[in-house]
Amino acid sequence: MFRDGIQKIDTDFFSLLEPFSKKDNITFCKCKFLKNNLCTNDKKPEICINYPSSPFAFLPDNCGFYGEIFQKKEEIMQKIRKLKEEILHYETLLPLASKEEKREYTVIIEKHKKFISKYKPYGSENW
Ligand code: SF4
Repeated sequence: MFRDGIQKIDTDFFSLLEPFSKKDNITFCKCKFLKNNLCTNDKKPEICINYPSSPFAFLPDNCGFYGEIFQKKEEIMQKIRKLKEEILHYETLLPLASKEEKREYTVIIEKHKKFISKYKPYGSENW
């Protein structure tokens, strides 16, 4: 499950939160189940289990997920570089391909480009 960018909070998750300070018009909240930096909720919702659900999610400084998320981000970047190599490969074959092969290669190229464009906001065109 991918949830890149800012998302509207869902009601299950919202019910876990309690306000702890307010500045200007912004209310800062924390989870009721966070005790001594540990989760005490043995029925935590799916969003907590999956967090961070995208390697491109914004993480606060010193977040414990940083190493894991960095590795996942690198894996996606490697996959995209591989897809770009494959696109180049099939584009090179296109001029000499039969009609059926052209159709097949074009489908692959378009599928790869669609995957790559999903990460465009994070710079996938330059990876
Ligand atoms: S993981 Fe636990 S402490 Fe963290 S938000 Fe979810 S329920 Fe709260």
